[in-house]
Amino acid sequence: MTDIKSMTIDELKKLMTTLGDKPFRAKQIYSWLHEHLVTSYDEMTNLSKSLREKLKEYPVTALKMVDVQTSRIDGTQKYLFRLSDGNVIESVLMRYKHGNSVCISSQVGCRMGCRFCASTIGGLTRCLKPSEMLDQIYRIQRSTGERVSNVVVMGSGEPMDNYDNLIRFIRLLSDENGLNISQRNITVSTCGIVPKILKLAEEGLSITLALSLHAPDDETRKTLMPIANSYSLSEVLPACKEYYKKTGRRLTFEYSLVQGVNDNLDEAKRLTALLKDMQGHVNLIPVNPIKERDFKQSNRDAIDAFRGYLEKHGINVTIRREMGRDIGGACGQLRKSYLSEEESS
Ligand code: SAH
Repeated sequence: MTDIKSMTIDELKKLMTTLGDKPFRAKQIYSWLHEHLVTSYDEMTNLSKSLREKLKEYPVTALKMVDVQTSRIDGTQKYLFRLSDGNVIESVLMRYKHGNSVCISSQVGCRMGCRFCASTIGGLTRCLKPSEMLDQIYRIQRSTGERVSNVVVMGSGEPMDNYDNLIRFIRLLSDENGLNISQRNITVSTCGIVPKILKLAEEGLSITLALSLHAPDDETRKTLMPIANSYSLSEVLPACKEYYKKTGRRLTFEYSLVQGVNDNLDEAKRLTALLKDMQGHVNLIPVNPIKERDFKQSNRDAIDAFRGYLEKHGINVTIRREMGRDIGGACGQLRKSYLSEEESS
């Protein structure tokens, strides 16, 4: 591990020993990187000049902000960042009454192939390092001057397809010597990679797990999400149950409503039956149409009827507010439009 912003304090202590310096410096460096959010060693004024020079062998990951778009409707901001290898990723800042929430990407692109999702169209380029996940939050907090209190790993990429880096990211983000974001305020969304859900249940973390369900049966789910060919609902839902049993954290089930595909009352009925013994709530997302696919958003009446049915039958349900609709709402859309502009110029 040479990526200094992905190192734990213990790993930094070992590095200090290797560099012939004192282990207590580790905490100071950690605090500069993860609490004060600096991007260069020169800002670490309580370190000796000679240590700062030696540390320059270990470049500090810092994302470059290349574009910010602000919604005129609700103030939501989309950030486009450039990574050191030239790839670009996007993150979203949403301001709620209960605090600021950042939605981060976990990979450059994605290989899960969900049919309605813009992030997956060019496939997977690479996984993000823990430091690159952290820095999306750090750069946003630094640039707004407002504390980030919630983090959702719901941007581009499948977090469970980048498992080890995800776990390290969560531990660093919730470390009391860093940004100290409570694990209870961190949500990870997955398309449903069963062995990884079971593994996550054993990590001793108290984060919220969100499952992208999107259909009440395997057949419909397969038409929307290729991962449904690998894991059936009879495997995914027990894994979620296990996650709840081990962590005590209630689950979130995401259900993107697509006109004529999964939005009628029969589907609402079967969804109710499927989830009646699950400890969790359903988050309905009116599908955000992307130009590469011809999926349509359900109309308002269908959405309200679907919600009404679930509510009436004892399922907790919320409709996701469509934040930042005017700035390319769905995940991966801003990056996608940026890349195709680059291609055509
Ligand atoms: N790979 C993870 C997280 C990324 S997407 C996952 O699959 O959960 C976060 C959520 O947005 C997922 O539920 C995803 O299915 C959904 N989503 C992606 N594109 C969408 C779109 N165009 N409209 C509505 N929901 C979308």
